[in-house]
Amino acid sequence: MDFKSFIRDVADFPKEGIVFKDITPLLKNPDALNNACDTLAGFLEGKQVDKVIGVDSRGFIFAPMLASKLGAGFVPVRKKGKLPYATEAASYDLEYGTDTLEIHVDAIEKGEKVLIHDDVLATGGTAAAVCELVKRLGGEIVQCNFLIHLSFLQGESKLNHVPVKSLIKY
Ligand code: AMP
Repeated sequence: MDFKSFIRDVADFPKEGIVFKDITPLLKNPDALNNACDTLAGFLEGKQVDKVIGVDSRGFIFAPMLASKLGAGFVPVRKKGKLPYATEAASYDLEYGTDTLEIHVDAIEKGEKVLIHDDVLATGGTAAAVCELVKRLGGEIVQCNFLIHLSFLQGESKLNHVPVKSLIKY
C-alpha cells in the first residue's frame, strides 16, 4: 500500500518552519488503518514482545492495537506530571529548552522484551529518552517502530543500534 499518499504535510504547524506530518488522513481510512497496523506488527514477526510502549500522545493510537496483535501488554510513556503512580523520569533537549517523559516504575519487569512505538521519528530525542527509561527499568528493547521516519534528521544515530522500522521514510 502507498502509505505516503495518506500523509498530509501541514506547513508552519505548530510553528513557523516546521512541516507537520499529519496522520489523520491515514487514520480515517479503514483500509489504510488496518494495513498500517498489520504492517507495523509484521515488523516483529518471529520476535517475542512482552510490552508495547506508546509515546504521549500520538504513539497512543497504534501502540495498544499493536500490543493486542502481538499478545503483549500496553505501557504509556507520558509527559511529566500526567502519570498518577510513582515514576521514573528522563529529560531530553528540544530546540529551545528541555522536556521530560515519565513511565510508571512497575510498568516493565526486568528482562521483559519491549517494543517502542511512536508516530514520527524526527531528531530522535524523544525515542532516545524512552530507550533510557526502558533500560533503567531493566527491559530489553526489541525494536523502535514508527509510522514515519524523517531520516534526513538522523535521529537513528541517537538510538544506539536499536533496530528501527517505519512504514514511511522521507
Ligand atoms: P524527535 O524527538 O525530534 O524525534 O520528535 C519526535 C516527536 O515529535 C514525536 O513524538 C512526534 O509526534 C513529534 N514530531 C516531530 N517532528 C514532527 C513532524 N514533522 N510532524 C509530526 N510530528 C512530529
